[in-house]
Amino acid sequence: MQKYCLGIESTAHTFGIGIVDFEGIVHSLINDIFIPEEGGLHPALVREQHLNNFKTVIIKALKESELSIKDIDLIAFSQSPGLGPVLKIGALIARMLSQVLNIPLVGVNHCIAHVEIGRLMCKIDDPLTLYVSGGNTIVSAFESDRYQIFGETLDLAVGNMIDSFARDAGLSHPGGPKIEKLALKSDKYLPLPYTVKGMDLSFSGLYTASKRLLESQDFNVKYNLNDVARSLQETAFSMLVEVTERALAHTEKKEVLLTGGVAANKRLQQMVHSISNEHGARFAVVPLKYAGDNGAMIAWAGILRYQSEGEHEIGNTIIKPKERMDYIKIPWRSGD
Ligand code: AMP
Ligand code: MG
Repeated sequence: MQKYCLGIESTAHTFGIGIVDFEGIVHSLINDIFIPEEGGLHPALVREQHLNNFKTVIIKALKESELSIKDIDLIAFSQSPGLGPVLKIGALIARMLSQVLNIPLVGVNHCIAHVEIGRLMCKIDDPLTLYVSGGNTIVSAFESDRYQIFGETLDLAVGNMIDSFARDAGLSHPGGPKIEKLALKSDKYLPLPYTVKGMDLSFSGLYTASKRLLESQDFNVKYNLNDVARSLQETAFSMLVEVTERALAHTEKKEVLLTGGVAANKRLQQMVHSISNEHGARFAVVPLKYAGDNGAMIAWAGILRYQSEGEHEIGNTIIKPKERMDYIKIPWRSGD
């Protein structure tokens, strides 16, 4: 009989439930996304929304999969990394369901889940992954039992940086898609800080300088918002691509996976595609439904962990807001 895992994503803006069977078929994916009216993600407000809506999301997901909660064989939840108060909600719901219904429980690292759903959906075996989202900017690949981090941001995540700039420019959240559209209307490049330190990236100087361009007397005289949007994108994406390319040359991986919400950006796709071609690597973008935060990726990573290590004791399901993906061994790839 087929077995099913219910995955709970709750690291930041998205409360997501995904139901996936042990063969990797997704039977439902339902998200409830917090959209700030102003400012960034306030953990207390996000937590309130997730608490108010979790039941509806779970019921919708079960309905979509035509399953009852009694058909669920495994509960997986995002245990790390993320906003502490928000992670706690997912962990609490997962533990409660597991204890009350007597269903095994596994905790999952959110970043590892992004890579695993990408490998599943893109039928890719051993990629170098560029994971770019509202909260993360990580270049990673499997080496010596783990997903090693080859490069990452030292400050802001690229999605957060673009969203913050967009907010300063008076655009509503999420800013990424709006900046992408504006950038297409320009062919100017305004010099902006390009900060790659070794294999790591820093976006705060780029953010501040772009914001200053909006505040300058020259704004809407010598250049406009489209030009700043294009310059910001070109600079940020070139930085990402430089680090990805160096990691690709070092690891000699034959596949490149682009994931996270920012993976929707066509210009970024084009740039990463182009360096992949130059290195003879196959390029794949995770289907957008699975590229942003979602419960199906948590369910699938949970299945992989459960099959190789079994369930987690309740005492081992404490949230770890700062846990890096390279802290964790990946036993299901031990043969690689
Ligand atoms: P995630 O955190 O993975 O759910 O992704 C959300 C982030 O993706 C936000 O920062 C969005 O602004 C960003 N995003 C979504 N679509 C695009 C796009 N077309 N270009 C750039 N960023 C985008
Ligand atoms: Mg994410």
